[in-house]
Amino acid sequence: MKKIALFGSTGSIGQSTLDIVRAHSSRFQIKILAAGRQVEELARQALEFRPQILVIGVEEAEGKLKEILGTRAADFEILAGPSGLKEAAGRPDLDVVVHGITGAQGLPVSLGALEAGHRLGLANKESMVMAGPLLNALADEKHAEIIPIDSEHCALFQCLLSGKHQDLDKLILTASGGPFRELPKSEFHAVTLERALKHPTWDMGPKITIDSATMFNKALEIVEARWLFDVPREKIEVVVHPQSIVHSMVLWNDGSVISQMGAPSMRIPIQYAMTFPDRLAGTIETYSPEIFNNLNFYAPDTDKFTSLTLGFMAAERGGTYGAVLNAANEEAVSRFMKGNIGFQDIFDRVGQVMERHAPNNDPNLNEILEADAWAREEIARC
Ligand code: MG
Repeated sequence: MKKIALFGSTGSIGQSTLDIVRAHSSRFQIKILAAGRQVEELARQALEFRPQILVIGVEEAEGKLKEILGTRAADFEILAGPSGLKEAAGRPDLDVVVHGITGAQGLPVSLGALEAGHRLGLANKESMVMAGPLLNALADEKHAEIIPIDSEHCALFQCLLSGKHQDLDKLILTASGGPFRELPKSEFHAVTLERALKHPTWDMGPKITIDSATMFNKALEIVEARWLFDVPREKIEVVVHPQSIVHSMVLWNDGSVISQMGAPSMRIPIQYAMTFPDRLAGTIETYSPEIFNNLNFYAPDTDKFTSLTLGFMAAERGGTYGAVLNAANEEAVSRFMKGNIGFQDIFDRVGQVMERHAPNNDPNLNEILEADAWAREEIARC
């Protein structure tokens, strides 16, 4: 029986994780459920899965959670706020911490889980983008594993098992290209929130869906790959693959290209992180000859998607650039979602903030958080 702590339980990754646990209830047991503010759903999940600990990330929502649970609140230990998230992730006796919280607010969970030496199933790419070298050093020190849940990085992780690091020529990250793959750049200024929220192949939360439309998601994934796999910028490439069947590829120096494929579903990477190095029967159909019928690959348009150039820049320069890229993007997306700035402004403002940044090449955690805060303020000044 593997003991699972699930962070972001009410979001898209969380719901898929719980589907896996339901399908394999003799293998997995939920010990911790943590959500941000969706107290009703968290309470419902708590009564179904009976974890020991419940965490509500937004402190003000704790009262509401207790009110909904009523006398049953006493069945659980309830923690709240960012400190509660970090504390829960560091509790002993956990086999896997599945981390599906979105954004920089997920960093404390990554730190807590690794400090305790737990396996971290990481869907929160932002923490790796912000603090990759710190998380890697912590994982080494505490003998903790980081298993990526991001579909591309799960693919790369699997492909990399087919050779040795020194023989690697390239990591090839695939990208769906999002809903505006074919849209001329001149029309970006008129893109509405509603249009940006319609993703052609993946069903995900709102922030990552906007990030897919801007391809800032891929920019973050370039940096994520740089740190997860200790591969320099020159060995990372992005290829547009609209069908999202090939989840990524590795090119070895002998010319072999190894890929991992399947219908787009996050259940595969989540379950893999929970069972690696073992595999377990899947819960969805991922193979039929038809889905492999018509696969296309081509180079991305970096004149249009300047996000990719910024991602490569952050991967090359390292230091605080990853934190700045991530924070500037989060802040710009939040402003776009509130209707304060246009779609094209996301690219322009993040680019300006990256240009203005005075980097720290070897930052500690506080300096990373300072760079994050600076970038958010700087977006407002653009
Ligand atoms: Mg991805």
